Amino acid sequence: MSINISISQIKEVTHQAYEEFKTNTVGKNADYIPFLANVDKNLFGISICLLNGQTITVGDTDYSFGIESVSKVHTAILVLQQYGAEEILEMIGADATGLPFNSIFALLLETDHPSTPLVNAGAIAACSMVLPKGKADEKWNAILNNITALCGSAPHLLDELYKSESETNFNNRSIAWLLKNFNRIYDDPPMALDLYTRQCSLGVTSTQLAITAATIANGGFNPVTKKQVFNSELAAPITSLIATVGFYERTGDWMYKSGIPAKTGVGGGIMGLMPGIMGISAFAPPIDKSGNSVKAQLAIKYIMNKLGLNVFSGKQINIVE
Ligand code: GLN
Repeated sequence: MSINISISQIKEVTHQAYEEFKTNTVGKNADYIPFLANVDKNLFGISICLLNGQTITVGDTDYSFGIESVSKVHTAILVLQQYGAEEILEMIGADATGLPFNSIFALLLETDHPSTPLVNAGAIAACSMVLPKGKADEKWNAILNNITALCGSAPHLLDELYKSESETNFNNRSIAWLLKNFNRIYDDPPMALDLYTRQCSLGVTSTQLAITAATIANGGFNPVTKKQVFNSELAAPITSLIATVGFYERTGDWMYKSGIPAKTGVGGGIMGLMPGIMGISAFAPPIDKSGNSVKAQLAIKYIMNKLGLNVFSGKQINIVE
């Protein structure tokens, strides 16, 4: 079955979603990172990037919020690009843990691999893998340049967030050293942890995340900058990682209800992608118990359902003028 969806329909549904959920007050800002507790809880934005580079935005889409765990996707792409898909499977893994993003229990259960680059253990391992090994500044430049290429413009470090997170990341320090204990970290643990904390503290807009998602949905070709950011062969493995663990222990529920592979962050951002169709991102600080933005989930689900989009539907979708 083939379905035509017009750009004006997408705009209309995006505005409807914004109106529908803008006054929703469910959820609470993340507070285990003190900086995040003080972000304005009423901020709300939705951005879509189509594969022709056109963006559709509504609400606070110019506000730079903490990228947090969404950055795990960007750096997973970087190490996939530097090492290849097979090597990532071997050195990190691709299985969901079924447990919270920062679970030490998950790490102890599977000591032979930190499971997936999209949970904390695997993301810290991914930062340790970034080349060139042993050189913190060059590794950071590689991470930042890659995020910039995916977003189509440079993110900026939120210094206060970086400070706040560095001073309170005791759980992640334990993860880094446990990885060392199990020979699953591939560079200096404190350095890898600092790179991870810094990448999580980058400020991005929902539009920058929608452009990243559109780049993945478009086989690594950024539709805004018109540059090939990563090898097109890697679009499928990174999308499969997002689909299997993007919402941590709630990923099954999310896929079942929304039909879109997506990745969340405790800063309130969610980035989803429909391969071959579009990237979408929504941002609102209050999160649920699993660390996923309440309003961003509602908005993306609404848009997907209203447009009849679902990655598993088997329908041929054509975006028309
Ligand atoms: N930097 C945060 C942490 O490591 C990211 C968590 C998240 O967004 N789920 O705890």
